[in-house]
Amino acid sequence: MIEKSEKGVISKLPNLGISVFARMTALATQYQAVNLAQGFPDFQPPDELIEYLYQGSKDGFNQYAPMPGLLMLREQINERIFRDYNYAAKVDTEITVTAGATQAIYSIISSFIRPNDKVLIFEPAYDSYAPSVLVNGGVPIYLRLKEPSFSIPWNEFENCINEHNIKLIIINNPHNPSGAILNKDEIDRIEKITREKNILIIWDEVYDLLVYDNRIHQSALRNSDLMLRSIVVFSLGKTLHNTGWKLGYIIALDYLTKEIRKLHQFTVFSVNTPAQYAVAKFMDSNTHFFSTLSKFYESKRDYFYQILQPVGLEMLSCMGSYFTLASFKHLGENSDEDSAIKLISEIGVACVPISAFYHDGYDPKILRFCFAKKEETLEIAVKRLLRLKDHNIFAKTDIN
Ligand code: PMP
Ligand code: GLN
Repeated sequence: MIEKSEKGVISKLPNLGISVFARMTALATQYQAVNLAQGFPDFQPPDELIEYLYQGSKDGFNQYAPMPGLLMLREQINERIFRDYNYAAKVDTEITVTAGATQAIYSIISSFIRPNDKVLIFEPAYDSYAPSVLVNGGVPIYLRLKEPSFSIPWNEFENCINEHNIKLIIINNPHNPSGAILNKDEIDRIEKITREKNILIIWDEVYDLLVYDNRIHQSALRNSDLMLRSIVVFSLGKTLHNTGWKLGYIIALDYLTKEIRKLHQFTVFSVNTPAQYAVAKFMDSNTHFFSTLSKFYESKRDYFYQILQPVGLEMLSCMGSYFTLASFKHLGENSDEDSAIKLISEIGVACVPISAFYHDGYDPKILRFCFAKKEETLEIAVKRLLRLKDHNIFAKTDIN
């Protein structure tokens, strides 16, 4: 059915509103709440990186970069993925620098999805996946991850693959919002289940360096069979504390990259040149920064868990990413969206209701908090959250 807006405009995405991150951030600003909703650090990127940005611009890196990205950056990325995942990419034909992971994911979906193609999305899911599929005429097939571990429901997964003619699967590892990660056996199992079907897989690995408790990130890059039909997406913003620079990259074999670049050249063409220069220079001389990143964020996670204990929310486990989930099921029956709005307006802390990550509004009474913040910020948030005891945030009231 074609739906028209009031002014007769035919919308391709009639049911889509403003993203939950933007909505919660706008409310946080309105109520001067501590923003633990949107996933971005509230601290500066390294000084050296900022200086390189200035230097790049001064030294003339101000015009279009080559379509796949500055060679010096692609070389650094190549070294990085070889060091971390023992994966040797061809710099010219298998690495593409993008305007963040969001554009990468959109361009990939747009390159391969035709009208009526089915795309398997595990929920809770990052909010850009489904609209990118829908706007290209694709059909999302949703599968809920198992709570509270947010692990893959293997039987349902296999049934789904056998029942539907799935063209593409999107897998996010480490997972936003749950902080779950996949182990090697699980990755191998995914490869086996999808092998005969010739299914493409997008691996959204934007939090690949944020894996905790001495675990190793099992990138799809480690599995050569899987890489025959995988496209792996990374975000530099998540690793360099500069989400606003909007830089990311795609790794895929040349025959896949060739198709993706056809779209990439007309969705963005090339990406901010001085920022690419700065990141390349920084990566060249700061391997230590990257190798200590997981400990840096792990200590933030631990600190947040520790100071949040007296608040009375039930904290779920977090093995990676910027985020931790807290259940309020035992505290009341209010919806997570209403609870999150009240938390902002009455308590002064913003988080994300995870029903926003489900297409059908499923509400397991869980809130997502971002701990990629200064300790002072986390402390202020928790001091405010301690006031929860005097408020009826989670109790369902008549107006709900
Ligand atoms: N995927 C996931 C799982 C994310 O959480 C995000 C945003 N944080 C993105 C993709 C998009 O990353 P970027 O900001 O590089 O576009
Ligand atoms: N990825 C970020 C998050 O999960 C938000 C990015 C955005 O606002 N689109 O919070």
